[in-house]
Parts: sequence; C-alpha cells; structure tokens
Amino acid sequence: NTFAEIDLGDALNLNIRRCKYVKPTPVQRHAIPIALAGRDLMACAQTGSGKTAAFCFPIISGIMRGQVPQKPLRGARTVFPLALILSPTRELSMQIHEEARKFSYQTGVKVVVAYGGAPINQQVIFLSISFSFQFTLRDLERGVDILVATPGRLVDLLERARVSLQMIRYLALDEADRMLDMGFEPQIRKIVEQMDMPPPGVRQTMLFSATFPREIQRLASDFLANYIFLAV
Ligand code: AMP
Repeated sequence: NTFAEIDLGDALNLNIRRCKYVKPTPVQRHAIPIALAGRDLMACAQTGSGKTAAFCFPIISGIMRGQVPQKPLRGARTVFPLALILSPTRELSMQIHEEARKFSYQTGVKVVVAYGGAPINQQVIFLSISFSFQFTLRDLERGVDILVATPGRLVDLLERARVSLQMIRYLALDEADRMLDMGFEPQIRKIVEQMDMPPPGVRQTMLFSATFPREIQRLASDFLANYIFLAV
C-alpha cells in the first residue's frame, strides 16, 4: 500500500521518497507489479492519474538492476537507448523527461529527450551544456538509457542514424490515443518496426491511453505480446 513496500531498488525508492510520493495511485498500484513481473500492459489512464511514474518506475528499476547492461560507446555518433518513451507533444515529452530525471537521480540511469521544434543539429551535435535537456554530444559519449521522444522527431533521428533502437528492452507509449489523433500512426509503426530488427531482443511494451477505440486495440494487438489489460 506504500512505495516502501515495493522493491524498486534502494536508489529509486529513495528518489520516490524525495518526490514525497508515499502511496501509489490506483494506476501505479496495479501497473507497477505487472510491469515488474515483465508482462506487457495496456492501461487506461487519464492525465493526472500518475501514469508517468507507473511506466517510469519499472523501466528505471529494470535498468538499474542491470538486466540490460550497456557499455557507453565512447565517441559513437549513434545512441543505443535501452528504453523508449513515446509521447505526442513537446510539452508532454518535457514533463516526462523532467520527472524521469528526478526518479533516476543517482541511479546511474541516463535520461534524455528529443522533440520536434528545436533545431536538430543543436539537439544532436553542437551544444553540450549540462542543463541542455535535448541530447547532446556528451550524451552520445556517455550513452543514453532512456530516450523520451515525440514520434516525428524520433523518425528524423532514426533516418539520420543518430539513434538505433536495436537495444530497446522497454517501450512505453504514452497518450496513445492522442498520438493517433495527431496522425502519428505511420511514424509509430515505423519506429516499432525498427525494434523488431535483429538481433532479436526481448521487448516489454506498455501502452497508456485515455480511451480505447478500435485503432488503439489494433495497436495493442500488433505491438504487445500476451498483455494484461488494466482499467482503473
Ligand atoms: P501524471 O498523471 O503522471 O502526469 O501525474 C500527475 C501528478 O501527480 C504529477 O504532478 C505527479 O508528480 C503527481 N503524482 C504521481 N504519482 C503520485 C503519488 N503516488 N503520490 C503523490 N503524487 C503523485
């Protein structure tokens, strides 16, 4: 009934206390154990339900436990994130990134964000100031564990070979219904296709949506394996 009872790893549990989260919200209470058990998940969750933590905690915890070790590729020009969080807008991506950074403080898990609207060169190559939230040359050198991105910008980065999705072990789709309303389905499908390229990885997928029209159900049956449906 409290986060202290869920073993997410010491560093993450400490950050949760720092954020003053004591009791999980309903979506967190149900989604986190399912995700920690390694199951795919489709969850009905509104804005304000605490869904960001519901998908961030299992991802950070899993990466911290080194289930998916990664050596930073020094000097590499392509990043190989272990987790991808897709969200419809720049604003939401920035919010998720900000929260994910708080949750991953001193865990060794590196989170970066890439969204449309910022000049891509600046985002990827030039600036390497520590407060730049967009990913930079320094991020490339240190490796990236969690990438938060909008679909359009990510497709662009994939085409420029700045990002590879071959190491992805966790995929979270946030506000999936909004992403489809905005016309991102082709981009999302293109992105997920790249994750299925060899070498075959074991990808855990979490899909969050406020509504469940037929298109979202189709997305779930295409992207999720043997998933648990959660409506809170
Ligand atoms: P979200 O639905 O993820 O955008 O979260 C909505 C707001 O609730 C954010 O400001 C979170 O920081 C906050 N929040 C999420 N989970 C909890 C929790 N278990 N306890 C207290 N606040 C929370």
